[in-house]
Amino acid sequence: MLTASGKRVDADLTVWAAGITAPAVLSTLGLPVSRMGQLIVKPTLQSEADPDIFAFGDCASCPWPEKQGAVPPRAQAAHQQAMFLYGALRARLDGKPLPSFSFKDLGSLVSLGHFSAVGSLMGGLIGGSMFIEGLMARVMYSSLYRMHVMALHGAVGMGLDTVTHWLRSKTSPRVKLH
Ligand SMILES: Cc1cc2nc3c(=O)[nH]c(=O)nc-3n(C[C@H](O)[C@H](O)[C@H](O)COP(=O)(O)OP(=O)(O)OC[C@H]3O[C@@H](n4cnc5c(N)ncnc54)[C@H](O)[C@@H]3O)c2cc1C
Repeated sequence: MLTASGKRVDADLTVWAAGITAPAVLSTLGLPVSRMGQLIVKPTLQSEADPDIFAFGDCASCPWPEKQGAVPPRAQAAHQQAMFLYGALRARLDGKPLPSFSFKDLGSLVSLGHFSAVGSLMGGLIGGSMFIEGLMARVMYSSLYRMHVMALHGAVGMGLDTVTHWLRSKTSPRVKLH
C-alpha cells in the first residue's frame, strides 16, 4: 500500500477505517455543520439555525444525551428518525408542539461470511445488553436482511429474493471464474 506521501506499507491484510463525512453540499448551505459535515439539529431534528429546516439520518448530527455525543450514523438511527419525523411533521401541521427524538440503540450485528456473525443486542429487545455470535447471530442477521427486503419490496418480493439467493448459492462457483 502507498500513502499520499509515497510511503510504502507492506501488509498481508489491510483494514480500511477512514470513517465517513457527509456530502460537501451540506457545508455550503450557510447552516451550522458538525466536524463530519452533518447539519447540526436540535432534538426536534430542526436545524439549529432555521426551525423550518429538518434533517435526519446520516446527514444530521442530532444530540444523544445518554452518551453525551451525537446519534450514530447508522441504519437503525435513520429508520427511527424517519418514523419519528413522520409523526412530528403531522403534529406540526396540526399546530401542536414538536416532540423530541430519543434514539434507542437495539445493538449491532456484523456478518462474518456465509456461516457466522457477531454482534450485541441491547435495550428494548432484551432489557439489557448481550453479546451474541455464531449461528444465532447469523440467523438474526439474515432475518434482519429479509425484514429490510420485505419493507422495500413486500412479502412476495422478499420470498422471490430468498429463493433466488438460495438457487444462486447452489449453482454459483465458490471461486471467481473470470
Ligand atoms: C459500507 C457501509 C456499511 C454499513 N453497514 C451498516 C450496518 O451494518 N449497520 C448499520 O446500522 N448501518 C450501516 N451503515 C450505515 C447506513 O448505511 C447508514 O447509516 C444509513 O444508510 C443512513 O440512511 P440515510 O437515509 O440517512 O442515508 P442513505 O441511505 O445514504 O441515503 C441517502 C440517499 O440520498 C441519495 N442522494 C445523495 N445525494 C443526492 C443528491 N444530490 N440528489 C439526490 N439524491 C441524493 C443517495 O443516493 C442515497 O440513496 C453502513 C454504511 C456503509 C457505507
